[in-house]
Amino acid sequence: MYRREFLKTTASCLGALGFARSSSGAQISGIDAVSPKPSAAGAGGIYLNQIGFLPDHAKVATVSARASSFLVRSLKDNSVAFRSTLSPQRQDNASGDTVRLADFSPLKVPGEYRIELDTGVKSDSFPIRKDVYDHALLIMMRSFYGQRCGYDVDLGGGYAHPKCHMEAAFHASSGKTGLCNISGGWHDAGDYGRYIVNSGITTGTLLWAWELYGASLKDFALRIPESGGNVPDFLAEIQWNLQWMLSLQDSDGGVWQKQSRDDFCSFIMPQDELGPNYVIGTGFAPYKSTCATADLAAVMAIAARCYSSYAPAFSRQCLKAARAAWNWCQNNPSVLFKNPAGIHTAEFGDSDCHDELLWATAELWRKTGDATFHQVFLGMLPQPLSAITVDVPSSTQVSSLGYWSYALARREGSGTAIAAIQQATLKTGRKFVRQSLDNGYGDSLALEDYAGASNSVAANHSLLLLIANQFEPDSSYLDCAVNNLHYLLGRNCLGISWVTQLGSYSLQHPHHRPSVADNIVAPWPGLLSNGPNADPADPISKALPRQAPMRMYVDDERAYSCNEPTINCNAPLVFVLAALHAQPSHG
Ligand SMILES: [Zn+2]
Repeated sequence: MYRREFLKTTASCLGALGFARSSSGAQISGIDAVSPKPSAAGAGGIYLNQIGFLPDHAKVATVSARASSFLVRSLKDNSVAFRSTLSPQRQDNASGDTVRLADFSPLKVPGEYRIELDTGVKSDSFPIRKDVYDHALLIMMRSFYGQRCGYDVDLGGGYAHPKCHMEAAFHASSGKTGLCNISGGWHDAGDYGRYIVNSGITTGTLLWAWELYGASLKDFALRIPESGGNVPDFLAEIQWNLQWMLSLQDSDGGVWQKQSRDDFCSFIMPQDELGPNYVIGTGFAPYKSTCATADLAAVMAIAARCYSSYAPAFSRQCLKAARAAWNWCQNNPSVLFKNPAGIHTAEFGDSDCHDELLWATAELWRKTGDATFHQVFLGMLPQPLSAITVDVPSSTQVSSLGYWSYALARREGSGTAIAAIQQATLKTGRKFVRQSLDNGYGDSLALEDYAGASNSVAANHSLLLLIANQFEPDSSYLDCAVNNLHYLLGRNCLGISWVTQLGSYSLQHPHHRPSVADNIVAPWPGLLSNGPNADPADPISKALPRQAPMRMYVDDERAYSCNEPTINCNAPLVFVLAALHAQPSHG
């Protein structure tokens, strides 16, 4: 799976060329000066979610320091709120550490606390509170507003830029010529490209969060320009990208792969990347690509469901687009995309569009109930049905989303197909739970997962576990899903929060052009970096000494293979935060 993610990373390699022209003026050099510094918590050997815990959920810190017992002190009156012994030692293979666990789950009283070891070592303070993750949900969702292209963005605090990339043209590979009036969407990542395939899984994941947890998101204010309108803020922000996706659909229903410059730019602000932004196709008839078109069909079918109450005309437009895209795919089932000559931005190449078509067909059936979609979907399933396997989705492997949509649809489907999908999902969920229990830092990653976009994989493990919990409610799935959140926000061997501006020690130097070019010290808020990568692609990451895979990370803006935020990395973590926001105990 990461291998496919890696295609994106490989394309990003050319970002290094951009760096060579970087306005920052820095030179690629030894990494000693930019190695991650030990965090305050990490220096003491106590690793935990830096933004805190929900009262009714498990609460565990990982301790690498020598100690045998611990207490949790309330900062309000300096009293001891909880005390216990540390677990027996265990070896954590992903980090190479020998660790013990400090489990203080019985402590449920809201407040501000810190952990103290019997050796006198203290952690940073952290809260226990019902709404402890609301701020994370807010800034991670607002980060999509920060990624808007073609808009006067102003997140506050100086994080702003004027309209960018307004000059657009059809690239020769698109089958059309001349200037065009196509703008909008979200910048994909640390670069300014906009890619249908990655937009597909990102908007699909976010819209699914709405479908499962929308009741609690309806009044969640994002403070975006559309706030106060008919459409809830959560949907309004996603709509910004959906509208751009629609504009990449040709009149025959097919969808062009992407819109970008011909190459990655240096570390400049988006408004400074001048010249035509190309609508890019395959370079040969029919110019549009199947995977992109099927992704759009899937997402627009979900959108048709989500927006029907708030923006009926937009909902109808989405359904029409989804049907046209699906029909195009029936006539063009395997038009693959490779970057045409002269184009070097991210490719999102994919040699197999079966999974995208499966997803599109499931979403259209779920929306419409049409027998045609149902029959096609059933015909696409592996036989025997016991051959169905479910793993985490990625940009170019979305079969799980198709399976889940079918199984979650409130329609009369095939009972045997639904049972097979559920069993396959629960099987993978149980595997993740076992891995989480074995791992010293509580995350559910296997050693081989630390290869490309491992933080996105961790967040998508949580997404799968939350879907498993829909099929068969079980607190072990929920606990495991939350454990990955803890891992991403500080319970890891580096003691780092991988979301910018979240936690007492978060990454400072993401491979994110506005964060480098804006002359503000702190990076743009709410961005999840792609994380440790034992298969590094950029010179800075490659220069790291070979270590246990969780340690294959450096907080350096040049290290795009382990420190680039992407919209598809943020989306599954927003999904997890939305699920926690919807918990009955949230209040
Ligand atoms: Zn832009």
